[in-house]
Amino acid sequence: MTDTTPAAPAAEAEAPARAPITRLWAYARRHLRLLAIGGALSFAGGLVGLVQPLIAMDVIDTLAANESLTRPLLYLAAVVVVGGALSALGPYLMQIAGQDVVLTVRKDLIGRLVRLQVAEVDRLKPGDLVSRLTSDTNLLRTVASTTVIGGVTDTFMILGGIGLMAWLDPVLFGTTMAMVVMVTVMMLFIMPRIQNATVDSQKALGDMGSLLERIFSAFRTVKASGAEDHEIARLEAAATTARDKGVKASLWEALAGVAAFMPVNIAFLLVLGVGGARVASGAMEVGTLIGFLLLLFYLMGPISGLVASLSQLQTGLAAIHRVEEVASLDSEAAQSEPRTTRSGGPAQVAFEDVTFRYADDLPFVHHGVSFASSGRGLTALVGPSGAGKTTVFSLIERFYPVTTGRVTVDGVDVRDWPLEDLRGIIGYVEQDAPVLDGTLRENLVMAAQDASEAEIEDVVKTARLTELVEKLPEGLDSRIGYRGTTLSGGERQRVAIARALLRKPRLLLLDEATSQLDAANEASLKQVMLDAAERTNVLVVAHRLSTVTSADQIVVFDTGVVRAVGTHAELVEKDELYRDLAASQLLTAA
Ligand code: ADP
Ligand code: MG
Repeated sequence: MTDTTPAAPAAEAEAPARAPITRLWAYARRHLRLLAIGGALSFAGGLVGLVQPLIAMDVIDTLAANESLTRPLLYLAAVVVVGGALSALGPYLMQIAGQDVVLTVRKDLIGRLVRLQVAEVDRLKPGDLVSRLTSDTNLLRTVASTTVIGGVTDTFMILGGIGLMAWLDPVLFGTTMAMVVMVTVMMLFIMPRIQNATVDSQKALGDMGSLLERIFSAFRTVKASGAEDHEIARLEAAATTARDKGVKASLWEALAGVAAFMPVNIAFLLVLGVGGARVASGAMEVGTLIGFLLLLFYLMGPISGLVASLSQLQTGLAAIHRVEEVASLDSEAAQSEPRTTRSGGPAQVAFEDVTFRYADDLPFVHHGVSFASSGRGLTALVGPSGAGKTTVFSLIERFYPVTTGRVTVDGVDVRDWPLEDLRGIIGYVEQDAPVLDGTLRENLVMAAQDASEAEIEDVVKTARLTELVEKLPEGLDSRIGYRGTTLSGGERQRVAIARALLRKPRLLLLDEATSQLDAANEASLKQVMLDAAERTNVLVVAHRLSTVTSADQIVVFDTGVVRAVGTHAELVEKDELYRDLAASQLLTAA
């Protein structure tokens, strides 16, 4: 492996995106049995319905013959019951199959979404991804159930009708076929446009979802800024766009209807004209002409059914297209070999001449960073805002691949570590310390599902959360709100630290919040950090002098390079930038 090889993407991500129709088939074929049974029952239900008029005739005959009505009425009742049952059961089974197909697609999509690479999620809109999972997949349901069976039935009926026409009269058949060719050409033109219009329309829905998501992710700021009217206007504009795109899709669908019926009507005229002339000249019998016209009339139903099925198919393909787009994004492979828990002491970390940029069209963030940290103790990363400190943690976690150079953990390039093993030994506390919707306990065990009650109690104590747990109405099982809105900043951060400690990390990465904490919170945070540093290797992006002065080693960053390494005393002595930062107390105030 060369230094520039990016982290291995998942095998599926490498496969070229398959044509939507192939994908649709791949999803639907797993549920063919249920579809076939449901289709057969629906069909049988229809046949039983056909028997009803025959029995009615029998009833009338029986009446006329003055015989007992019991037998035919019993037949009729049986037919009604059986027919009704079949007509309910068949479509129900097909709908189950449709839901099963949707479930298959969703499971596939969920796996891909959650395993997306961080870099992909950076540039995507969550709301749009949500709509792919919810509304796009839902569009598939009809296609995967009734459409196919309806389409096949209609196709057979049309082929049968056409065959009969050819047998009745080749000349009229030729006339009709010319129309069929016309319909086909127009459909070939219209169908892809229905698909594109549906993609646009679904995309507009996704955009609306993204906007709403944006508003709720900064809800207090929106309100505090008095930006409600502005945001409402944006959302309404997005809703209007969705409406317009939906109308456009309907227009193409309507045109598909016209394109199917116009030629049929023209065929009527032609058959009447050509056929009439041939009847007049004695080349054809009147009965044949009438039969031919009846056939044309009879074909109207299947034709409109087929056009509807084709439109639905295009909608389904559009949905698959949007679902498949997610497959073309880079995801992380799920680990195939079992996780090896390399228990042991503190993990070593080293940066070896690392350069890095977030994307090819962005400037470099790191221009040759080198430093190392090993053994128990506290390494503080300090430097001005934007110097690249948080990025150091992202590279250790392999959220992004380095551009050149190496990041090693225990002497092994992070690219050669099985990803889950690598992340398994690291505890990471993000700068804005996110808390997920759920209970406090769920938030803690997120990184260590098998943690025992004693272990949880232990980290609660270590992270100085005992008071909070006692204060909450249901202790550890209290819900702490969407994004932990019911907790203070300091509490959120300590929850995140407890979560990280619960997996007994061999390396703890701690990105201090820049916001001011009160003195009590700051002191307890520092104590938590020092306790952890007794046991393991702790790297902290430090914004507070009190953290830095306790560090065993300080790495000073300045615009993507390490400018000095040393202890507080050494650095005050030898590094000007550090001296300034230390003097200003809040080390990264912009
Ligand atoms: P620090 O933590 O030292 O304040 P960061 O490592 O967060 O700095 O960021 C360093 C630089 O990288 C900044 O200029 C920032 O704008 C940029 N940056 C950070 N994260 C991303 C990202 N996900 N995509 C693109 N640029 C980013
Ligand atoms: Mg930062």
